[in-house]
Amino acid sequence: MKILLTGGAGFIGSHLAERYLELGHKVYVIDDLSTGCIDNVKPLMEDPRYEGKLFFHHDSIFNGEKLLDLVGICDRVVHLAAAVGVQYILDNPLSSLKTNIQGTEIVLGLCHRFQKKVLIASTSEVYGNQSHAPLVETDGCAYGPSTKARWSYAASKLMDEFMALGYHRSMDLPVVIARFFNTVGPRQTGRYGMVIPRLVGQAMRNEPLTVYGDGRQTRTFTHVKDAVESVVRLMDAGGAEGEVINIGGAEEVSILDLARRIKEKTGSHSEIRLIPYDVVFPKDFEDMQRRVPGTDKLFGLTGFRPLTKLDAILDDVIAHSRAAQA
Ligand code: UDP
Repeated sequence: MKILLTGGAGFIGSHLAERYLELGHKVYVIDDLSTGCIDNVKPLMEDPRYEGKLFFHHDSIFNGEKLLDLVGICDRVVHLAAAVGVQYILDNPLSSLKTNIQGTEIVLGLCHRFQKKVLIASTSEVYGNQSHAPLVETDGCAYGPSTKARWSYAASKLMDEFMALGYHRSMDLPVVIARFFNTVGPRQTGRYGMVIPRLVGQAMRNEPLTVYGDGRQTRTFTHVKDAVESVVRLMDAGGAEGEVINIGGAEEVSILDLARRIKEKTGSHSEIRLIPYDVVFPKDFEDMQRRVPGTDKLFGLTGFRPLTKLDAILDDVIAHSRAAQA
């Protein structure tokens, strides 16, 4: 099959490209390299096993003609191109909204025109501020006021979900909506705020590990290989069409405990420094206190759920960071 990956040079996209290539498919990537990086796909482009199998287009999904060509020739589309990362969203509030809302609308419109199956990447952010666990797909969403910029990301992704469901219900478009929970792994950059690459980088440089707030907020991290396997299986699961599905890991951890584990595993001399939110973020920032995915729906549809333990995820990230430095 020919698979189109929007945002295919990004962190998740490049791992998904690799998986589809391993499975023998042809992969078409469109990426404007705003947060993606050519180095993520270069090794695949230079790999003799994948000669003539990977096609990289340095372009924006707002280039309608290019996207029309690509959706036309491909069999399936995975739409990952989006503004991601809390820091990035706060730094670029307007362009983030445009990318996430208008960009997805363009992709859905073209997929409808050619009747191509599409997976829309959403995020656990759409649940908003919740304290219960696990979060399941039938749960409601809880946001703060629109003056707090963080919620714009959640709201824009929720709008993507409504749009995708609208295309499914009104136009019969085969669409799958995946909510990713804190996906991490080799090649993820800490530049846009993601906590694990940031703390690992700080630990390796023996700089203070920056833990925001009191560090008691929790997350459940998902190894990118598990996330990618979930996507591939969901695209093959007929029952996933018109559905919203969590893709998330199994082990809840507080950010303070995460920092302690990273310090120990890297043998770092870094201190762990608690930094009040208003020192790092604008006053209008609000953090999510807890995020644990329910993955029964994913398992029911695919027979698979991400189970990689946090220790194994950290070992992998640290090993790759060391190799990249060497
Ligand atoms: N965080 C932190 N130190 C950092 C970066 C992030 O303590 O250097 C915290 C952040 O406030 C949040 C958690 O780590 O509570 C996860 O942040 P990330 O940006 O990775 O993901 P998200 O907030 O989208 O879950």
